Amino acid sequence: MEAIYIPQLAKAPEQTERLTVLHQLPYLKTLTPVQGEVIVTHCGTYLDVKGKAAAILTLSCDRCLQQYNHRVVVDAAEFIWLERAEDDPQADLLEREVSLEELIETLEPDGYFRPLEWLYEQFCLAIPPRQLCDANCQGIPFDADPPTQVDRRWASLQSLQQSLGDNLQN
Ligand SMILES: [Zn+2]
Repeated sequence: MEAIYIPQLAKAPEQTERLTVLHQLPYLKTLTPVQGEVIVTHCGTYLDVKGKAAAILTLSCDRCLQQYNHRVVVDAAEFIWLERAEDDPQADLLEREVSLEELIETLEPDGYFRPLEWLYEQFCLAIPPRQLCDANCQGIPFDADPPTQVDRRWASLQSLQQSLGDNLQN
């Protein structure tokens, strides 16, 4: 999918682009292509970005380590401020620090908006931090003790019983 040249977006009808998404995202392996829509509007000093999309991802369960398929849904809206980076690299650095702290996304006014990279970020936020194949997942299954192996506590009882019996017989 093409990146959107931001000055071009300002000239689009209603300063808006509607993009139909049916793509694989960069850096994110999905079982099905990401399907949905991204709407970007140029609002002068910022971009108004809305996106709805879904894809099936293969996740691995935190409890049993089995892989399972999970449908991840993104329904996101974000303002991205259009700000020219300062020529003074020091000022730029300071500004970036502030931006990071406040978690404000910015782009150059004459730069590009990349819808698939934006969607990638939204998917990263939408992937559940706690991954369970099932709410009732019992964790890693392990076989019960083989019948020949006797619990040590019972084993000592058994030997006691045996020696008692032996004493009685003698
Ligand atoms: Zn599991």
